[in-house]
Amino acid sequence: MSETESCLFCRIVAGQIPATVVAESVNSLAFRDIDPGAPTHVLVVPRRHVPDLAGLAAASAAELADAVALAAQVADDEGLPGYRVVANTGEAAGQSVFHAHLHVLGGRSLTWPPG
Ligand code: AMP
Repeated sequence: MSETESCLFCRIVAGQIPATVVAESVNSLAFRDIDPGAPTHVLVVPRRHVPDLAGLAAASAAELADAVALAAQVADDEGLPGYRVVANTGEAAGQSVFHAHLHVLGGRSLTWPPG
C-alpha cells in the first residue's frame, strides 16, 4: 500500500472516507474535526500529501499560503471574532495524523498558553 493509500487525510481528500466539508480550494480542503475541541474546530489540509507544515512550506509556498487563506475564510464563514490556528508537528507535540493540517479553533474563549 502506498503512503497516500494508507493516509487518512489523503483518503478524505479523495472522497473515500466521509467528512463534513465546509470549504475548499484548488489546493486545500477544510472539514470538521471528528473530535472537536471547540465549537468551531475545522481542519484545513493540503490536497498534496506532505507529512507536516514545514514539509508543505518546503514543497510549495503557494500551497501553504492557500491553506492559511482557507483557514481565514472558514473563520469568516463561521462568524468568529477571533480564532486560533494550530499545527502540531511531531508526536511529542501531539501530532497524530502525518499529513499536514491546520486546526482552526474558535467559538469559545481560548486560553494561553495552550496545554
Ligand atoms: P493532530 O493530532 O494534530 O495530528 O490532529 C489530527 C486531528 O484529526 C485530530 O484532532 C482528530 O480528532 C482528527 N481526526 C481524526 N480522524 C478524523 C476523521 N475521520 N475526520 C475528521 N477528523 C479526524
